[in-house]
This record gives sequence, C-alpha cells and structure tokens, in this order.
Amino acid sequence: MKAKLFVSKLNQITKALIFMTPAQREVVHQSIQALDTEIPIDELFQPLFDSKSQCPHCDSSQFKKWGKAGGVQRYRCNSCSKTFNNKTNTPLARLHKSCIWVEYAHCMALRLTLRQAARVCGINLKTAFLWRHRFLQAQAGKNDDKLSGIIEVDEFFLAYSEKGNKTLGSGQKARKRGGDIDKRTKEGQVAVLLSIDRSKHMIAPILSADTSSEISINLTENIEENSVLCSDGAWAYVKIAKLKHCDHKRLINGKIRVMDNIYHIQTVNGAIANFKAWVNGSMKGVATKYLSNYLAWFKESSAKLNKRQILLSAYGRQQYYGT
Ligand SMILES: [Zn+2]
Repeated sequence: MKAKLFVSKLNQITKALIFMTPAQREVVHQSIQALDTEIPIDELFQPLFDSKSQCPHCDSSQFKKWGKAGGVQRYRCNSCSKTFNNKTNTPLARLHKSCIWVEYAHCMALRLTLRQAARVCGINLKTAFLWRHRFLQAQAGKNDDKLSGIIEVDEFFLAYSEKGNKTLGSGQKARKRGGDIDKRTKEGQVAVLLSIDRSKHMIAPILSADTSSEISINLTENIEENSVLCSDGAWAYVKIAKLKHCDHKRLINGKIRVMDNIYHIQTVNGAIANFKAWVNGSMKGVATKYLSNYLAWFKESSAKLNKRQILLSAYGRQQYYGT
C-alpha cells in the first residue's frame, strides 16, 4: 500500500475506532492478531538475511539463487560452492513445521509449560522441548543492555540442578525440583546477578562464583557513567560505583528500605521473586545447564515481547530490552 493511501485509510480506521464499544474494539484486536499468525516465516526472516547478505559458511557476499527446496529459496556460494537457505547456521536451521512456529512463539510469550504448548500446537513433548531451547539459544547469555539512570542490582541463588539427567555426576543425589537453598550456604548453588534500570533495561548474567571480581566483570561494562546505583551493602558495588562515577545508594538489609522515596532495590527483588516462583513453581525446577535460556526467556517476557519479536530474537536479531 502506498504511503498516501495508507494515511487516508488509517484516518478512516481511527475515526471508526472512536465510535466503537470496548467489546467491538476487542473484536478488531482479535482480527489483527489472527492476521498476525499468517506471517510467512520466510518473509519474517528474509530482511535479516538480506541485511547481512553473506554466505553462512564462509562469509562471502558472492552467492546466487539456487532453486527452491520445500518452497524455501536456496542459495549457492560462488566462493565455497556450498548451498544454504536463510536459516542455515541460525538456531532455527533444520527445525521442521515452520508453519506453527508463530503459534509456538505465542505460547512462549504466554510462558506456557511444555505440556500446554505441545497441546496448543499439536506437537509432541520432545519437539516442544527442542523448540523451546532452540528459540532461546541465540539470546542465552547475551547481556549487552546498557543500564542508566536509577539502576537496581542484587544477586540471588538457585540450587544446582541436573534435572533430566538420568546419570548424575559426582555421586550426587538428584535434588527434588531445584528448590531454593538457604542463601547463607554456598555449596551446590548457582549465583545470578540481576540488574534493572527504571527504563526496564535488564541484565541477568550467571556468575561463576559469588565474588566481588565476578560481580565487577559482569556489571561494570553495562553501567553508564554518572548513574545512580542502588544495591545492598555488599562491598563489590562500592568499587563499581566509584569506578563509574555513580552516586551509590546502599540499602542495608533491615535498616533502610527506601531513600528519598525513590532509591530502593524493590523492583529488582520483585523480579527475582517472580523469576524464582516461575522456575521453581510452574516450571518445577530447571536444569542448571539451561538456566541461561530461562533467564533469556524471563527477559523477553519482562519486556513483553510479542510472538513476532520472539521469533526474530530466536533467529538471532540483536535484542535490547526496555524502552
Ligand atoms: Zn561460502
């Protein structure tokens, strides 16, 4: 549709919407959503492929169209002679049934369990599990959001879990449902740092140890200078705040909860409680080897990504959270 025609149609639609009841607007909303499920997957990814315009095997920009396979355009590289399509070497390569990926992405936006998602999409549990982790692979461990303004930070711990592994290493007994362990005991736990600013940018790196240097490595680069850093009393944050010329608000447990009515760590602690309740509750505990995937999913969910954005993130588009 040409821009001029679009503007005149948009005016008509806007006028019509004004005179509708909320229920009628809901019908319109549902019709738009129904149209959305019709997005042809290859049309969604093609612009990303075109913007890179290179062979996924050798990065050469010299390639040509090479017929179609299953309705999907193939290409052949002039340099390495290998063939590929627009999903080769992405986490979505060689996954079948792409016509229901949009529906599956919608299930992810709703944070459905495997069983629920499998039922909605008419796929088996094994496929639902494979898709979940392929959809999250590209964003797992990516923590490149820049935090600024008022930044809240805290760490939390989850029980180390080998859920799903039939043979456990190091003679450990399987821990039931990845439950929370007392924060004071550090054995058998995984530490995660969570930091959020008030524009909802978020990072959630897994720390290899709960030490000052690990906190510093995983947080310092993400903080814009001259921000306000709100943390608990841990010394690690004092150093970082100094280094980044941040005003540091230390909310020492039990003594001060809020400073000047705006400085607190309640948003980050709320997010931590929400994450723990989700993974230990409806997800019934998650294997530690997949923890970074669940953290990526949590970030997507907190940023309220829609199914289209979830698919683009799965393809590997650089995703920044927040506004
Ligand atoms: Zn090549």
